[in-house]
Amino acid sequence: MSEIIKLPTIIVKDAALLPGMIVNFTIIQKRVARACEEAIKGDGLVFVASQKEPAEKVTKDTLYEIGALSFIRQINKLPDKSFQVMLESRKRARIVSVDEDGGFYADVEPLETDESAIDRVEKEAMLRYIRELYIELSSLKSGMGKNVIKSLNESAELGATVDMTLVNTPLPYEVKLSVLQLTDLRDRYDRAVQILSDEIQVARVKDDLKKKVKEKVTKSQRDYYLREEMNSIRRELGEDPLSEEQELRNELDKLNAGPEVKEKIEKEINRLVTLRDGGSEASVERSYIETLLEMPWDNASEDRNDIIKAKEILDRDHYGLEKVKERILEFLAVRTLTGKGGGPIICLIGPPGTGKTSIARSIADALNKQYVRVSLGGVRDEAEIRGHRRTYVGAMPGNIANGLRQAGVKNPLMLLDEIDKVSSDYKGDTSSALLEVLDSEQNSKFRDHYIGIPIDLSEVLFVATANSAGDIPRPLYDRMEIIEVSSYTSNEKFHIGKDYLLDKQFEKNGLTRKQLSVTDGALRKIIESYTREAGVRELERKIGEICRKAAREILEDNPGKITVTSKNLKDYLGKEKYRKESAVKTDKTGIARGLAWTPVGGDTLQIEVNIMPGKGEVELTGQMGDVMKESAMAGLSYIRSVASKYKISPDFFEKNDIHIHIPEGAVPKDGPSAGITMATAVLSAITKIPVSGKIAMTGEITLRGRVLPVGGLKEKILAAKNVGIYRVLVPYENRPDIEEISEEIRDGMEIVYVSSMNEVTKEALVQ
Ligand code: ADP
Repeated sequence: MSEIIKLPTIIVKDAALLPGMIVNFTIIQKRVARACEEAIKGDGLVFVASQKEPAEKVTKDTLYEIGALSFIRQINKLPDKSFQVMLESRKRARIVSVDEDGGFYADVEPLETDESAIDRVEKEAMLRYIRELYIELSSLKSGMGKNVIKSLNESAELGATVDMTLVNTPLPYEVKLSVLQLTDLRDRYDRAVQILSDEIQVARVKDDLKKKVKEKVTKSQRDYYLREEMNSIRRELGEDPLSEEQELRNELDKLNAGPEVKEKIEKEINRLVTLRDGGSEASVERSYIETLLEMPWDNASEDRNDIIKAKEILDRDHYGLEKVKERILEFLAVRTLTGKGGGPIICLIGPPGTGKTSIARSIADALNKQYVRVSLGGVRDEAEIRGHRRTYVGAMPGNIANGLRQAGVKNPLMLLDEIDKVSSDYKGDTSSALLEVLDSEQNSKFRDHYIGIPIDLSEVLFVATANSAGDIPRPLYDRMEIIEVSSYTSNEKFHIGKDYLLDKQFEKNGLTRKQLSVTDGALRKIIESYTREAGVRELERKIGEICRKAAREILEDNPGKITVTSKNLKDYLGKEKYRKESAVKTDKTGIARGLAWTPVGGDTLQIEVNIMPGKGEVELTGQMGDVMKESAMAGLSYIRSVASKYKISPDFFEKNDIHIHIPEGAVPKDGPSAGITMATAVLSAITKIPVSGKIAMTGEITLRGRVLPVGGLKEKILAAKNVGIYRVLVPYENRPDIEEISEEIRDGMEIVYVSSMNEVTKEALVQ
């Protein structure tokens, strides 16, 4: 143990003085100033102790054991009475004891490094290695003095060299403090090697990063290939905060879009970079950028304008529908000749399951277009069409922009399904938003609130579907080319089932014709007894059900081939659900049978009229729209005008109430077409002349008893035929429509054309 000396002591916080270190202090604490003054009175030596943690009373335990025996090189009194001191740390010293006596003193034991413990050659190797480390580090890191290298080379003492390398390396004070505490030379050397090696590693990685940033500049010069390469290197190096931005920029480079769009996305990416680590805001921004990058912008697919091929595809996918196919082919021909991408919009109107969606799909196929379906059923909020503004939490693009994104091209066929089912409520006007979508004048710059950049919809081929024309908002209706798809007859359903649906369901369920066959009889029975619909959706479902049951049977029992006939159909589909309904054909007074068109197909409806003593009031019950009321009034007017002919007393209408009722069930969408039926029922009720039970009728009535034409004849005739009514009164002016109806439907039907109520009553009333 060497001698112990008592020295004035300076206590420092957050600092450690390694031997060889020269530091400048500004001293304000009186106590410290006194210590310094004491020191210069003597030999200028002070002890610098590092404090572990602030303590009220300084004891040996609150200080690190090893401190620096230092020499005061200079001391300057500053005008504000503080001191500036220049200290040189000379060697380590261990605190033995402290005492506070006016100033602050410590008894310390100066520590000498015992160099002789290490063999000469080994020491030389250690010296060289530590020098090399320092030199390498100084080449990687700026701010490390080159003149130090000279001193290092000259120094032969390992202890001093180790300290010197660390003194001249920018390091956190904790690191230096930890080295200061190491009195064993080997420990100190090992620690220094570790510190310097780590620093070299860090400096290298930093250098690498710097290079990458430099490469990023190249990227901004749109050097796509370089960036790709860099990105893959990044990925190999593990996640790197730059890589995401990089990827977005790469995507942006590849994006096929105009300069405005690209600039906007560039801006957003820059914004994202500033938001990094910004939590939710950054993630909102990121998904916005991703959405923008996924939009097709200038991406387009090549259309096939081959009408022959289009016809082939339409025929391949659909049975019958001749007129519909014809209209579509005409439409496509015009489109090809005019060269207009978008053009007018087709709207397919018809009951559910009649193939509207699947026709649209075939059109896309025929034109080699991408197909996307946008469902409008139940859309009430304008934002569903036009998107939410981005300030909303959870904002999303509207379903038009989304559809386009799904399609991946700017010129897909977009199916607007159930356009008659949009409704508008307090959240803005959905139909005017749709109008903007469909209007070729405006839609080249469609604004989605979320996307924020105008989207070009002018090359999208829109096809809409609806069940009922009456429910389509008028301005939309006017903009579309309507193609009606009507109900199928049993026979048509049979052919669709046999030639299309069976194959489709077989394939879907992994069956072949060798494993399962469904006989014609079974198919007809499904149509008659298990389904009641205008289209074939239910039929397809039933066939699917048979296929699934058969598939299971094949796997479980391995019966060879399964044949489903009308006899064993029950085993697959359960009990029959419908019986062929037939109308009660007895003649009745006050009841007339009308025919109605509804969005889901045709139907028959019975109108009942009661007369009772009263004050001449007319009451209408059941589900009657305003239009029906109007035609009931027109019918009454007519009856009054012919009252004398039927010997109705002149005061009859003052003394009786008339109650007209339409039973539940068939609610005609085309109200006025029940006009002649209502008038007939009322007349029959008043005159007590029965109406023939074998007749059904449809037609609008005027005040003077003229019969006006109506729509939906195919559905109506089918409905009559289905319930076994074969004689139908139809407005004379509808003759051309009747002639257009297929032979199959008209077969067995007696159509009587009527042009006035006189003719109606002659046919209908049993006189
Ligand atoms: P909608 O859109 O009119 O409600 P879908 O297009 O969904 O009806 O048709 C229901 C199913 O019936 C589909 O599988 C469709 O392919 C089939 N289908 C409808 N009409 C025909 C037809 N004329 N020929 C062949 N399959 C048809």
